[in-house]
Amino acid sequence: MTVPTHHPGDTLLIDYAGGALGEAASLIVATHLALCPCCRLNVAEMEAVGGALLESIEPEEVDPACLETVLARLDDLPPLPRAPRPKLVCQPVEVPLLPEPLRRYVGSDLSRLPWKRLMRGMDCYDIPLGSGSESRGKARLMRLASGVGPPYHTHRGIELTLVLDGGFTDDPGQFARGDLSVADDSVRHRPVADEEGCLCLAVTDAPLRFTGPLGLILNPFVKF
Ligand SMILES: [Zn+2]
Repeated sequence: MTVPTHHPGDTLLIDYAGGALGEAASLIVATHLALCPCCRLNVAEMEAVGGALLESIEPEEVDPACLETVLARLDDLPPLPRAPRPKLVCQPVEVPLLPEPLRRYVGSDLSRLPWKRLMRGMDCYDIPLGSGSESRGKARLMRLASGVGPPYHTHRGIELTLVLDGGFTDDPGQFARGDLSVADDSVRHRPVADEEGCLCLAVTDAPLRFTGPLGLILNPFVKF
């Protein structure tokens, strides 16, 4: 059992805790949380701080100078009491191959899914999301054989990849079960599955853009 070493980062976790992420990004962060006790503690703390903030605001009648009044009061408020931050320790956790948030979407039997072949050694399953969420990202399971990876590419938006089984190697290092990779349009990369292959959950908010010599040929035809 491994402990995640690559995490979503505070910005993504704050957006998740505040309900600001789309369905696809929420799914991948929630699945990472199921595998990562450190990030679970962080999110619980963020939710507690958010809740305390809301409770500290007393309802008042709105007067015409509302904005100025609020801004003036913000300056006078004492700092919020901060609970001592618990010592965060990543302990390995026993979780099924497909953690609960993901199982709700894909079931627990991977062999029953209608996998689609993208290229030799690489299959995918597009996870159906709720209606109206198309513009907020795409989520898919990817299954890669040993040594296989997509061609060099960059992104038009953000790409989140969570390892569920096996692993892959990319410029920032090795990613194993529970690790989350975050790549944006500044990253040009080619993740490659490790020897044991890789099963991962990938979320993108726009199709990938291939950058190598093959890219000119592939971009118009292949929708990874
Ligand atoms: Zn984490």
